[in-house]
Amino acid sequence: MFFNTLLAMTSSEQLFKDSALRMPGGVNSPVRAFRAVGGHPIFIASAHGSKVTSADGREYIDYIGSWGPALLGHAHAPTVKAVQAAAERGLSYGAPTELELRFAERVMELYPSIQMMRCVSSGTEATMSALRVARGFTGRDVIVKFNGAYHGHADCLLVQAGSGAATFGNPDSAGVPQAMVQNTLSMPYNDLSALEGLFDERGQEIAAVIVEPVAGNMGCVPPEPGFLEGLVSLCTDAGAVSIFDEVMTGCRLAAGGAQERYKLKPDMTCLGKVVGGGMPLAVYGGRKEVMQCVAPSGPVYQAGTLSGNPLAVSAGLTTLNALTPAVYARLEAASARLEAGLKQALQETNVTATVQRVGAMLTVFFHDGRVTSWEQASQCDRERFSAWHQALLAEGIMWPPSQFEAAFISAAHEDADIDRTVQAARRALAKL
Ligand SMILES: *Cc1c(COP(=O)(O)O)cnc(C)c1O
Repeated sequence: MFFNTLLAMTSSEQLFKDSALRMPGGVNSPVRAFRAVGGHPIFIASAHGSKVTSADGREYIDYIGSWGPALLGHAHAPTVKAVQAAAERGLSYGAPTELELRFAERVMELYPSIQMMRCVSSGTEATMSALRVARGFTGRDVIVKFNGAYHGHADCLLVQAGSGAATFGNPDSAGVPQAMVQNTLSMPYNDLSALEGLFDERGQEIAAVIVEPVAGNMGCVPPEPGFLEGLVSLCTDAGAVSIFDEVMTGCRLAAGGAQERYKLKPDMTCLGKVVGGGMPLAVYGGRKEVMQCVAPSGPVYQAGTLSGNPLAVSAGLTTLNALTPAVYARLEAASARLEAGLKQALQETNVTATVQRVGAMLTVFFHDGRVTSWEQASQCDRERFSAWHQALLAEGIMWPPSQFEAAFISAAHEDADIDRTVQAARRALAKL
């Protein structure tokens, strides 16, 4: 009670000042600091459905959605109940549970390409582990990623790494020795002929190609027709492992992710965000012969004290069980309404920008014409983005604080939320 009162009386600005003395940039993950858009971050006191309430007591319509997990809206009641019930039975055992089995069964029903899997605690762990397994399985060292793609912060993946890193103008992090990235090749996204050229030259050295099947960490950039199909078959022909990093797209673009939407079967898949229902939980998995390389079945080591944590798995399983066709119909309707409204507002205000959307992922790029790659995304007018973000915030709309982050619509966003957002957007655009 005292704690709550204290929070309600302290402004975001003050909390940020105090936090900045104790945490780098005042935050526990860089993009939360609002550096790309100016001002101070909004501290959150609570969240429900489509809304978040700040420490200052102000309510916002939220399009960050915890950066993806809040697909069903914040504090989804059955998920909260499942976590409470699990907590009563103990917070962590470090021993296997039936819940993990049921969760794995459900994941594999939704993702038929996953024949065996492991639970981990973050998307970063999932991609890092998948790459180690791919290298162990193939006995090769080279991994291929795409410019502007973010796959978590493992050393070998911090090359041309999109959103968080790109926003700060240093896509390559300090503290990563050259030796850690010398086997990482970064290629232009959506450029199949460049990838074909690479495979012609070095196909037999390539352990894996890791891809966001719909890019979300340079803003929402869909795959060009044939790009993903070509990528998977290049890998198959060369004996390399195709890895779909569906940490963002998984369960968002369809219950079975982008691979369901585009009818594709990668060798391995990484899941996170939605799959944990808001708790720290992620998954990597794939073809049985590949996954059998993982210890103790095989020689590739990977472990985790809190992996498959009962609270996290309870939240994940309850969320997966709630992913009905009605949820996706609602997500599509709300997202299409937002897309149409924003496009109309752009037209009415004569502002040059491009709205791109796949399912419940959407970006307004301050760019003339379609964006298909990081090379184009990076040319956006970031000052305009920043002004637009600040104007929306003043209107009570919590838009992601970077040009290179997708906005996430949830199944809890009502038409009234969308319409209020579009009206605010029109006023914001008119001021640019
Ligand atoms: C968020 C994200 C990650 C990293 O997940 P964390 O849980 O933040 O470590 C990896 N890949 C993609 C595509 C993501 O969007």
